[in-house]
Formats: sequence, structure tokens, C-alpha cells
Amino acid sequence: MSDRLERVAGQLAERNLDAILISAPENRRYLSGFTGSSGYLLITPSRAMLFTDSRYSEQAANQAPDFQVIQVRGGWGWLVEQLKETGVQRVGFESRHMTVANYEKVFDALKEDGNLGKVSLVSASGIAEEHRVFKDSEEMALLQKAIDASDSAMEAVCPTIQEGMTEKEVAWRMEMAMREFGADGISFETIVAGGPNGAMAHHMPSDRPIQAGEPIVIDMGAIADGYCSDITRTVVVGEPDDTFNKIYDIVLGAQLTAINTVKAGMSGEDCDGLSRTVIAEAGYGDNFGHSLGHGVGLEVHESPRVGPNSLETLEPNMVFTVEPGIYLTGWGGVRIEDIVVLGDDGAKVLSKACK
Ligand code: ZN
Ligand code: ZN
Repeated sequence: MSDRLERVAGQLAERNLDAILISAPENRRYLSGFTGSSGYLLITPSRAMLFTDSRYSEQAANQAPDFQVIQVRGGWGWLVEQLKETGVQRVGFESRHMTVANYEKVFDALKEDGNLGKVSLVSASGIAEEHRVFKDSEEMALLQKAIDASDSAMEAVCPTIQEGMTEKEVAWRMEMAMREFGADGISFETIVAGGPNGAMAHHMPSDRPIQAGEPIVIDMGAIADGYCSDITRTVVVGEPDDTFNKIYDIVLGAQLTAINTVKAGMSGEDCDGLSRTVIAEAGYGDNFGHSLGHGVGLEVHESPRVGPNSLETLEPNMVFTVEPGIYLTGWGGVRIEDIVVLGDDGAKVLSKACK
């Protein structure tokens, strides 16, 4: 059994579960190594099973040597069969991921088979996520590959942005470059927001042409071997105006303050406050509406949450973004985002693209 699988199997008793049904793709991949798009894991303290259909059974057998791969045809009869065979009674499911429709189907299948009452389905989320929040060395290498792809794309494409190019064109150039620099794809829809569009933190690229002198917010990420990156830079074609120089300095100061002073043991809220205070003291507290950051890994947004009201404790080996921004309606926005890993003596920045 792999360490990851062993940790989860070992936790079942603590959670008063006989088995856990894993349905979230990232958790399935994290625990088994299987990267296909469809399948379920059923883990008991002594057995690990992976159910998938004929498209994937060979791949699953190759990628998930710790699991007994069982080919199924859809529906939920296979689960009922397994539960009867293994004799488990309290089965955890990932309530954060499983749809109500699927829950009802499992419930109906158990009822039809006369096993409802013998088996209970128990909401049990976070059993894999609480381990995923700490990145091991293998994960750090994969994350760095994704980060390097988006860093290199940012550095290669920014100098080629011209007045008159549309936001969509810039986004496409970035996406092509990420692929050329080793990405398997994009980790989320690329954001390119020129001028006033930048006042909307998550603006989608449009046909609006880039104009000289306006801020252009570019927020993008690569995915490599399942791991995501996320980076934002704000750039200008030609000469920036005075507002840009002023706002950019405040945002950069806020970002560097958080990066240089965050410590293990702080809460997500404490870390958020490091940047938020700098922006508020400069008079722009009302113009920074979103959280400072979020965890990154197999998902582009995962734990820990680094924002107001986040009581999660930041600990060594956690990886998260630091991305303060200031948004001014009618003018635009400035956001700067990097990914850091927390160590015993503070944060280390993993992204290297020029700021
Ligand atoms: Zn981002
Ligand atoms: Zn982000």
C-alpha cells in the first residue's frame, strides 16, 4: 500500500467508517495514481478497489498497482454487490463531490436489493483533502513544472503584446506558449482584461483591442501531470499613467509584505490581513474585494483558503497563492499573483516571472 492510501485507510476507524467511496477525480488520482476521467475507489482498512469501465480498465491496472481493478458497466449494482461481499455497513461518501442524483441512485439500488438499513451512507468529505494540503517532494516537482510553463509563457508573450491586439488574441498567445513550454493544458480560463475591463477581477477575454497606456491584467495557469499553476501579472503597452505607477506600487508592496512576513502558525485570515492592511492604509481598502489567496495543487483552487474569516492554520509544506489587487471602476485593475510554499522560516516564492 502507498503511504497515501495507508493514511486514508488508517483513518476510517477514527471516523467510525467501514469504508470510503472516493468519487472526486483529484482524490481518485491522488490516492490511486489512476488518471482516467471515470471511476470510483472503495477503500476499507484491508482492501483497495478501483471500479471503472472498459475504456479504462487496462490503464487503471497499469497506473494503480495498489488497487484491485474491477471493470463495471455503469449503474450502481456493482457497489451494492461489493458492499454485500465485503460486509461493510457504514460507507462514507464525498458529500462535497457526489451529486444528489447519484446519491439517490445508490440509495435506490440499496433499497431495491433489500440492503438499505444494513448499509448506511455517511457524509464524509475531506478525508483525502486533509492530506493533499501538504505537498510532498514528488508533488512539488510537478507543481514546479506547471509553474515554470506559465512563468515562461508570461515572460515570452508579454513583450510581444501590441496596441490593437484584442484580449482574446493575447489570451490565445499565452495558452499556446504555455503548451510550448511543457503544459498539458490550461488550469482555468485565461483572463486578459485591458483598461476598464480590469476593474472586474474575473473578466473574460473579449474582442476589445488593447490600448497603449492602460493596465492589462493577465491571470492564467498551466496544468502539467495533473498539477496546476496560477499566476497574474499586470502590464502596460507604452507608458503607464500616474495612477498605474501609484496603484502598482501599493499592490506590489502589499504582496511583498505578505510574502516576506507570513509565518507557519498564522491563520489564513492573519496572512490575508498582512496585505489587506497595506492596501487599506494606502486608502484603497474598499477596492480589494477578494481573498488574498488559495491553495493550489491537483485543483487550481483548494485548501488552504487565505482570506478574511479563514481560520485554517498555515503550516509548512502548504502551497498557496498571494494575489492582492486594487480595482478602480472606469480605469481598471492591478493584481499581482505568485505561488509560494511555506517552510519553517517563512514563504519561498515558486514563480519567477518578472514583476
Ligand atoms: Zn490567478
Ligand atoms: Zn489565484
